[in-house]
Amino acid sequence: IKKIGVLTSGGDSPGMNAAIRGVVRGALSENLEVYGIYDGYQGLYEDNIELLTRRSVSDVINRGGTMLGSARFPQFKEEEIRLKAIENLKKHGIEALVVIGGDGSYMGAKCLTEMGYPCIGIPGTIDNDVPGTDYTIGFLTALNCVISAIDRLRDTSSSHRRISIIEVMGRHCGDLTIAASIAGGAEYAIVPEKPYDESELVEGVAEGIANGKKHSIILVTEHITDVHELSKKIEARTGRETRATVLGHVQRGGAPTAFDRVLASRMGVYAVDLLIQGFGGRCVGIQKDELVHHDIIDAIENKRRPFNEELYRIGQKLF
Ligand code: ADP
Repeated sequence: IKKIGVLTSGGDSPGMNAAIRGVVRGALSENLEVYGIYDGYQGLYEDNIELLTRRSVSDVINRGGTMLGSARFPQFKEEEIRLKAIENLKKHGIEALVVIGGDGSYMGAKCLTEMGYPCIGIPGTIDNDVPGTDYTIGFLTALNCVISAIDRLRDTSSSHRRISIIEVMGRHCGDLTIAASIAGGAEYAIVPEKPYDESELVEGVAEGIANGKKHSIILVTEHITDVHELSKKIEARTGRETRATVLGHVQRGGAPTAFDRVLASRMGVYAVDLLIQGFGGRCVGIQKDELVHHDIIDAIENKRRPFNEELYRIGQKLF
């Protein structure tokens, strides 16, 4: 193998740049050429492709976001569009592709692999919802961001005896919410993996207040309920000022933490090593602190990240 490509796709996450850098410098150190594809699968289709050098990835290890850009490009589900993408790759002589992104991006990589074009997936998303890995790149950086937001809200909630509801990202995965609730000392973690009973929550909060709690912090994963409506209901029931804060995209930005930089660098270099060894159609992960790789088709079709029941249970005891 002589030439490889790298792209970032889907929602960005802190540490994607460190992963790109890992791929580029890992490949150059093995005398491969590396091409950067801009704006994810859209750039692949539009032939927005450029040769990268060591210098191309200078000064990015510390930066959030992705220097290659990312895009949502639903047209990639169409085979004709993907055929054009493969044509572009072949035109440049690019023999394999590293895709950094979440499970949606893995779907694209899976499709290319099924069409005979080898891809390696690297899990880059703050949601931690990708199969075959304990951690995705960006998750722990986002967690720190959520915790600092909780800490700040706690200060002011406590002063004003206010109830705070905080909506946390994660799509259909409660990992960010659960870890943040433990680290931030929140009273409730409402997650998509567990049934949600609104009246039970409202009554629980009311009971806590009646028993003398000064304030309450409730974390809710996005897409479960309208947190502003919920805050009105809690305020009506408890008579206490209740505010909802939707953290939104601030959770996706910022400098990656040391862990995410090291993880991304390891995964980037490892992905290149797999390609050199002749592997294609794999996705990279870290499990029990070891780098691993799985069949990307099997991972997408048959594997789900198991819900961390133990962490959830521990959280329940601490509230
Ligand atoms: P993430 O990778 O963060 O989960 P998305 O779900 O938006 O983000 O997926 C990113 C991109 O991957 C999409 O915009 C699309 O280009 C591609 N993609 C998603 N699903 C498929 C699919 N079923 N087939 C081909 N490509 C897909």
